[in-house]
Amino acid sequence: PIILGIESSCDDTSAAIIKGDIILSNVVAGQKVHEEYGGVVPELASRAHQQNIIPVVHKAMKDAGVKSGDVSAVAFTRGPGLMGSLLVGTSFAKGFALALDIPLIEVNHLQAHVLAHFIQEPDQKHEVPEFPFLCLLVSGGNSQIVLVHDFLHMEIIGQTIDDAAGEAFDKCAKVIGLPYPGGPLIDKLAQEGDPEAFEFSKPRIANFDYSFSGLKTSFLYFLRDNVKKDPDFIERHKNDLCASLQKTIVDILMDKLIAAAKKTGIKEIALAGGVSANSGLRQAFMEGEEKYGWNIYIPKFGYTTDNAAMIAITGLFKYQKKEFVGQEVAPFARMAL
Ligand code: ATP
Ligand code: FE
Repeated sequence: PIILGIESSCDDTSAAIIKGDIILSNVVAGQKVHEEYGGVVPELASRAHQQNIIPVVHKAMKDAGVKSGDVSAVAFTRGPGLMGSLLVGTSFAKGFALALDIPLIEVNHLQAHVLAHFIQEPDQKHEVPEFPFLCLLVSGGNSQIVLVHDFLHMEIIGQTIDDAAGEAFDKCAKVIGLPYPGGPLIDKLAQEGDPEAFEFSKPRIANFDYSFSGLKTSFLYFLRDNVKKDPDFIERHKNDLCASLQKTIVDILMDKLIAAAKKTGIKEIALAGGVSANSGLRQAFMEGEEKYGWNIYIPKFGYTTDNAAMIAITGLFKYQKKEFVGQEVAPFARMAL
């Protein structure tokens, strides 16, 4: 089948065409309007999606060399996400399915982040994780360890009780004066810094759960105390601060993942979500391959942040099971995995 995927859960409007599991196009339009506000403004996001959705879908079909009549089904992100943003993609998908009289498939955005591993490129097939596998899903809104039994059967075995890892990166970045989203900038500056320069407290929390709000606070207080003594403290130690902060976040993430892998005896270990772009985390993952005998899977960068390719591949697995929805479907902002 040829599936059109639509993603509009947050601040990226995206459309993709997949043929079987082979991606033919994946177009993502970001939104610059939020930069000056230091975070995503829901109302502005919704309006930008409305402007972007049709051109983005057109481009995805053109890039793929596919006409609307060739499309077998349309898959869209139903949630979780911002209600006003989800509404745009959902409405578009419903209209498209109705007009062409093709099946409509709802997709859980988080499930899609995990299934991004199964997207194949036209030129060369890559290895995919074997079931059951563990997936560390780390994004702007989520941090969880997912036990993946099958394509559409996943279980959360640990998750953050407060902030997500991406949120921790972004909030701490803001404190040292970096623009939003600060995660990638921390990564960049960290490469010039010493990860052992400073030590920040790690949470003590049960099971495979995470917590990042304490780290954010301890980072803030640490800076405040030092800036009192030396007003240029942040400027002079920016790289070391970034490197040390990044190391702390990565250690927190890896400690629980390692524990979960030991407990379950699973060695197929995957990484997903926007934070998987982080070079420190990738490095730690690769070390896990040697240290613990893991087979690791990291998706291509473009499939880790929000994209419609992952929606389309999830759509394929639901298409194969004939899991379709009717026109009465509505977005679900707080949809769980
Ligand atoms: P969710 O999927 O939970 O709704 P989201 O879709 O907003 O959240 P993603 O787009 O998957 O999240 O990821 C964005 C997050 O990833 C941001 O917090 C950003 O700072 C972070 N991020 C991206 N690149 C890096 C990097 N190299 N290092 C650290 N963090 C990064
Ligand atoms: Fe996402």
